[in-house]
Amino acid sequence: MPDILVTAPLPDFLDEPLKRDYRCHDYHRSSHKPGLLAAEGARIRGLVQGGGTLTPESLLEALPSLEIISVFGVGYDGVPVDYCRRRGLKVTNTPDVLTDDVADVAVGLVLMTVRGFAHADRFVRAGEWTRRGFPLTRKLAGCKAGILGLGRIGKAIAQRLASMGVAIAYTGRNAQPGVPYRFVPDLVALAQESDVLIVACPGGPATRNLVGAEVIAALGKKGTLVNIARGSIVDEPALVAALEAGALGAAGLDVFVDEPNVPAALLAMDNVVLLPHVGSATRETRQAMGDLCKANLDAWFAGRPLPTPIPELA
Ligand code: NAP
Repeated sequence: MPDILVTAPLPDFLDEPLKRDYRCHDYHRSSHKPGLLAAEGARIRGLVQGGGTLTPESLLEALPSLEIISVFGVGYDGVPVDYCRRRGLKVTNTPDVLTDDVADVAVGLVLMTVRGFAHADRFVRAGEWTRRGFPLTRKLAGCKAGILGLGRIGKAIAQRLASMGVAIAYTGRNAQPGVPYRFVPDLVALAQESDVLIVACPGGPATRNLVGAEVIAALGKKGTLVNIARGSIVDEPALVAALEAGALGAAGLDVFVDEPNVPAALLAMDNVVLLPHVGSATRETRQAMGDLCKANLDAWFAGRPLPTPIPELA
């Protein structure tokens, strides 16, 4: 039975199957992490982490027999990929199985912000409706959406919004082959022409604060920013400042820089919708992610090809 280190809280439907086939060491819950590493570190051959888990190189240095990191999530911005390449470590994630759910959350945030649904719900609960009508909002059909990162999730968002009458353009490092949407190479230009800008690219150093003050200003006071990707991609202080100044129309956010802490200023804003990182949080999808996370480990230790190695190390 290979020894594996678990560095994130896992649902029972992944934890229990893992414990049947592996000797699991719960680093996340351990009250004496250095002691655990000293006693077991040399035996550890696999590591399971969450999509949002930050794995420092120093931890990997304490695991000399490590062979594979299996990420329970599609984002692997918390994994030091260059270090893993140098050490010949395999890294896997759980792509595709969560795409529909995350795209649904993006569309939900678009509707909740553009049509003001979260605010409207609070309006009814507070008894305001008995005194006056809810202010008019904006029609979604006919809006222009810009997508930053037209990958698996970005394409699923585009498909959903296109079916609702929204015009789609996108940006990224490259134009995507075979898509019916317009590529705009420059992010500021895309924000300028968009009613809604949707962030769907990976996190990590390459995209840190990519959506900064200039992009937010280009989106403007009638614009809406939706982020379902990673908090690190948006310059959060610049976002808060723009919303406070009325220089950005609205924001719908599933992800934040310092989760689960959300900037206090956002909590009081009626034009902001805040979700607790629920992009993939359905029973069906989390089960499929758990199955794939374990299938990657199982394949590796059985000498079979990995189902979903990350592209950089495949
Ligand atoms: P994907 O298929 O790899 O798509 C990523 C897209 O971003 C690609 O179109 C890629 O195109 C573009 N991109 C990559 N690096 C870029 C850069 N430096 N600048 C601009 N664009 C860049 O990934 P996915 O499966 O759609 O997932 C996207 C992200 O969603 C994940 O990395 C994860 O962080 C996030 N996510 C969030 C949740 C949630 O719960 N909220 C759940 C799942 C995933 P090019 O390579 O051509 O640039």
